[in-house]
Formats: sequence, structure tokens, C-alpha cells
Amino acid sequence: MKATNNYYDVVIIGGGVVGCAIARELSKCKVNVAVLEKEDDVSWGISCRNSGVVHAGFNNKPGTLMAQFCVEGNKSFAALCRQLDVPYKKIGKLVVAKKKEEIKELQKLKQQGDTNGVDNLQIIDLNEVKRLEPNIEGIAALYSPETAITSPYLLTIALAENALDNGVSFFLNTQVKSITRLNNSRFKINTAKGEFISSYVVNSAGLYADKIARMVGIKKYRLYPCRGEYHILDKNVSWLINHLVYPVPQAGAGGLGIHLTPTIDGNILVGPSNEYIKIKNNFSTTSPVMKMLSAEARKFLPLISPGYIIRSYSGLRAKQSPSSEGGFWDFVIEESDTVDNFINLIGIESPGLTAAQPIAKRVVEIINKKERLSPNPNFNPSRKGILRFEEQDEETKKALIKQDPDYGEIVCRCEKVTKKEILEATNNPLGARSLISIKYRTRAMMGRCQGGYCLTRIIEILREYFDLNPQEILLKGDNSYLLTRYRRNKENELCKKKKLLSLAEELPV
Ligand SMILES: Cc1cc2nc3c(=O)[nH]c(=O)nc-3n(C[C@H](O)[C@H](O)[C@H](O)COP(=O)(O)OP(=O)(O)OC[C@H]3O[C@@H](n4cnc5c(N)ncnc54)[C@H](O)[C@@H]3O)c2cc1C
Repeated sequence: MKATNNYYDVVIIGGGVVGCAIARELSKCKVNVAVLEKEDDVSWGISCRNSGVVHAGFNNKPGTLMAQFCVEGNKSFAALCRQLDVPYKKIGKLVVAKKKEEIKELQKLKQQGDTNGVDNLQIIDLNEVKRLEPNIEGIAALYSPETAITSPYLLTIALAENALDNGVSFFLNTQVKSITRLNNSRFKINTAKGEFISSYVVNSAGLYADKIARMVGIKKYRLYPCRGEYHILDKNVSWLINHLVYPVPQAGAGGLGIHLTPTIDGNILVGPSNEYIKIKNNFSTTSPVMKMLSAEARKFLPLISPGYIIRSYSGLRAKQSPSSEGGFWDFVIEESDTVDNFINLIGIESPGLTAAQPIAKRVVEIINKKERLSPNPNFNPSRKGILRFEEQDEETKKALIKQDPDYGEIVCRCEKVTKKEILEATNNPLGARSLISIKYRTRAMMGRCQGGYCLTRIIEILREYFDLNPQEILLKGDNSYLLTRYRRNKENELCKKKKLLSLAEELPV
């Protein structure tokens, strides 16, 4: 099947980790695919607002898709990250019991994990807990050496870039408004950027997948936003823990409890909370929850102090279970029984990041069963990310600066990001140009000062290299202008920081 104008064999709605994994998986076949994403970049839904944990699979009920895909995803994650040049570390996890009664729960979790096919789970005693985590309070733990961490947004970007390289088309700022069925049974998808026609629709719109399903008359799904708020701790206290540290999960809770998560970049996350809310895009953090997170974290890690916190953020779980029920309902990944060729992905909450690749394979299986797709002989599984100057050894750093002096200019002091990396991020293949796109690709503005130092410098680079009027530079897509006025001093530098809007408050996670 050949694409003509706005026709695609498959249109995927949603450029989160799942939509981008599906796009990449489909690009292994000879098929024309488009991804429609309402935001200015991929990964700006739930996929950039989670714990970044590659779960092992012992939390999920045996026999569910969640359990199966989590275990499969965990086992293939390292290889995926190697192919796509995405950071990944298998640091292991402790689920820590604080009281004797909780040890029984650890045994149940271990048994559940063993049934699901999780490798190397063991219950460890107080001495072993202290040996692995000297600063953590607890009497025993379930130790899962297979649990790992990654960068959820770098993975999503990498999946998208690799899919793009293999022929998938990406349309950003393209919100799907309605879908109709044409006489020839193709779909007409109306978006903020015009119409698309397709033979298949994959509804991978995360928290909005129920709304997309309703566009074709499927009313049986409802997704409830359940907010999880986090603290981010400064990198200089990364020594506090070596592993992921979780409490014993509470029966019926919609999350895994307030945990401590070392991030791939050296911070520690504290959270997430677990609160059903009414509005689907309410990513606020709130004072009572912030206090609660600190108090809960101190129960495990008494050394935590409020001065270590550099920022807060929140994510929204796409819950199928209403607040009266809580807990986890299984993923729905199926072709609609009423609308042919319309594939729904509903309730892709945690462990959706871990399971993204197996979920994508399942979607391709569904299409393949009907279409017998032939393989794409030119599929290239590899993709290179932006080289992190800070992570190179001294010799390499010297060579890089010699080769390109832009490596010799540090733009973000907290995260040691060079001008070269900023330029590479701005030239990304997806064409995402907002400051937040640069932030996720480089970590500039993510350190302790949260952009206080580097923001003006990045604006100046954008002005100088891309001839952009600084007043047109956007923080995060549509109308998110940063500057009301801009004036240069005689050294041609950004003058008067005061003229920036109070941006520090605006800069998200
Ligand atoms: C607090 C929290 C912690 C979590 N921690 C983990 C973890 O540690 N490990 C793990 O494995 N999983 C975790 N998860 C789950 C994981 O983050 C999700 O399962 C995963 O990110 C879902 O990806 P997605 O692509 O389905 O959704 P999203 O990333 O939300 O992508 C959906 C996309 O659809 C777009 N969209 C919506 N409507 C439209 C429209 N009309 N037109 C066009 N585009 C549209 C959105 O903008 C969005 O980009 C966590 C989730 C939360 C909330």
C-alpha cells in the first residue's frame, strides 16, 4: 500500500512512549505510518512524568497482560536501550518491610513474581538490608536485582527518531478533533492541521484514549486521572541510596506507595502520591502532598531534609478503575469489536513504560493477522543520541573541543551542558523547537538552579544561530511566549534579566 497525499495505512494517535514504540515496531514492516501528536513534541503526556523505573514484574497479577508484558519488557529493555543509545542501569530494588506483619506480604510478592517469571527475587534480612542500604530503616526486604532505571523521555524521543529514520511520518501540534468512517471503510481523521485518511487507527492517546474511542462511537471506556506528585532531590545527595527503595504496597492502592527512586541522571525522586482528581490536565503539585511526601520518605530515610529538594512535578495515571475501587485493571489492547481496524489501547498505566515494546509488538500482531505485512528490508534498528560531553573522559573531552570549539563552552553549569549539545538538540530530526524540547534532550535547565543561569544563554544561542526573534521563542508549544520585550546591550548579550517573565515558576520538571 502506497501513501498518497494525506493517506496512511496506519495512523497512530499519540506520541507517548507507547505510540512511538508502536511506530518503530511498524516501521520494521512495509507500511505507511503517521503519528499524530497534539503537543509540540513527543513524550509530553504521561511519558515524561513518571518514575523512570523498568519494573521487574512482581507487582502484577499473574495471567494479566500487565504481568506478561512487564516481565517481557524488563527482559528486553537493556537491548532496546543499547540499540537506541538510551541510558539504562540495572540498579535493583528493595521493597522494605518496617514491621513483622509486612514480611508475609514480601513473601506473597516474591511468590507472585516467581509465578510471573521474574528472575532472582530474594527475601533479605535486616543485616543484608543494612549492607545494601546503610541509610534505610527496615527489618527485611524483597530484593529484586532485575529492576532497572532509564530516562523515559529520552527513550520516547529515541523510539520516535528511529521510527522517523525508518519512514514513519510525525505530525506535531496535530490534535485529533474528530474521526469519521468513509464509504470505502477508511477513516477520515480531522485534526488541528487538516485531514488524514487511513485504513487503520491505533488509539494510543494515553489518558485521552477514552475520548478518542468515543469519536468513533465506542463508549464503553472511561479513564480517571489519578495524580502522583513527586519531589526531586539535588544530585549532591545521590549518595543517600543505591537502589530503588519501595514500601510494601497497600492492598487496593492505585500506586506502589511513596518510594525513593534514584534517577538515571543522579537525582532522587520521592513519590508519587496517589490522588484521583477531576481534571485530566491538572499537573499541579500541592502543599499538603509535598509535606506528606517528605514525612513518608523520612520513615525510610531519616536523613532526608527539605533543603535537598530542588523541584516538584506530577504525573497522571490513566486509571480504568474508579476511585471507589482503586487498584489496577489490566491493560486493554484490542481491535474494537464494533469498529473494524480501530485498535484501542486503554488504561496503559504503570508499568506502561516498561511494557511499551511488548505492547507495540502486540499491536503489530493484531494488524499483521489481517494484512500479512511484509518486512521492511531497509529497517535500521540503531539510532545515535546526543553525545553527553560531561560523561566523556578527559582525553575525549580535549579532542572534542579541538574538533568543535562549541564543546568548550558550558551553557548549563548545573548539568554541565555545552553549547554544542544545545545546538544538536535544536536541530533534532523531529523538528521540535520549544525550550522544553531542548531541556529534555540535553538536561539544560534541569539542575539545581532550574534554568536561572542557562536560560538566557540558550535564548541567545537560538537568536544567534537560527535568527529567531527572542520574543517568538516558546517555552512549551502554543502561545507559551517567554519574553514581553527584548533588548541587547553593546556586547550583544541578553540584557536585563528582569525582562524575562517570572520563568523559574513556569519551568516544568
Ligand atoms: C506517576 C506515574 C508514575 C509512573 N511510573 C512508571 C514507572 O516507573 N515505570 C513504568 O513502567 N511505568 C510507569 N508509569 C506508567 C507510564 O508512565 C505510562 O504507562 C506510559 O507513559 C503511558 O504512555 P502512553 O504513550 O500510553 O501515554 P502518554 O505518554 O500520555 O501519550 C499519549 C499521547 O497522546 C497525545 N494525545 C492525547 N490526545 C490527543 C489527541 N486528541 N490528538 C493527538 N494526540 C493526543 C498526548 O499529548 C500524549 O503525548 C507511571 C505513570 C505515572 C502517572
